[in-house]
Amino acid sequence: MNEFELINRYFKRSAMSNTIALGVGDDCSLLNVPSGRQLAVSVDTLVADVHFPADGDPQAIAERALCVSLSDLAAMGASPLWFTLCLTLPQADERWVAPFSEGLLRVAGHYGCELVGGDTTKGPLAISVQVMGSVEPGKAFVRSGAQPDDLIYVTGTLGDGAAALAAFNRKIKPNSDAFHYLIQRYYHPIPRFNEAGRLAPHVSAAIDVSDGLMADLGHICTASGVGAEVYVENLPLSEAVENFSSNRQQREWALSGGDDYQLCFTVPREHVPAVDALIGSGLKACNIGKITSGNRVTCLLLGEPFTIASKGYNHFG
Ligand SMILES: [Mg+2]
Repeated sequence: MNEFELINRYFKRSAMSNTIALGVGDDCSLLNVPSGRQLAVSVDTLVADVHFPADGDPQAIAERALCVSLSDLAAMGASPLWFTLCLTLPQADERWVAPFSEGLLRVAGHYGCELVGGDTTKGPLAISVQVMGSVEPGKAFVRSGAQPDDLIYVTGTLGDGAAALAAFNRKIKPNSDAFHYLIQRYYHPIPRFNEAGRLAPHVSAAIDVSDGLMADLGHICTASGVGAEVYVENLPLSEAVENFSSNRQQREWALSGGDDYQLCFTVPREHVPAVDALIGSGLKACNIGKITSGNRVTCLLLGEPFTIASKGYNHFG
């Protein structure tokens, strides 16, 4: 199957959204940015055996690739519109491409993000996804908005991505329920659009946790010219992480493991009651620290300094 046939068979769909004047098939797509909105654009490349296992399920790999990119839109408070895909494949193997496109288009449909173009190339397996979304001018979350004394929150639980990799590599042996949960968290990270939308009026800065909390919170601090204190005892952990690893390991994963795709955000004091009310009414987030003056990001366990081994990076293998 040549490139043209591959694209036509597996990736070409008639455009659903009225934001698409002309979809896949010409040299360019023609897109209408909704009036009065800013365009938010982000691209991510995932390389086999660096960012995902090359022999993993193609459908799950596709779903994860798109979810990871969508997470960046959520982290900016943007709503998804479109995406493009660049696929580098060792060979045009339909047994791989068919489930890959099925997973990709399933997630695209779920989040209302339509494929509007792309490219395929022969080479070592790699996937680039560029997502485009829209946001009200002046309303995007940026990294540079945190102020001393703002509280720091994260959505959901931390450390699941790192625990999933440890389970894949047989470094931990979770039971089947926990293993299933960790696989879901790794392959189906949920872009936090829902939380971002509800939190929008109260957020001073935000980022999604892709490289590890300390690394990503560090980006907020650098951009904002502030420091931070993280309260280790407050880190939200899943049962799967709590039940199948040591306390030390759990904290290391929560602080410096990657691939969690939760939202880390800061909240000015005057907005804390509103955020706590949202949490009280079911929004899954918790306070894990506060922004300080200065430029250091430190961890405290029950008030005592807590040192971690690595600052935060995480790649497969
Ligand atoms: Mg990001």
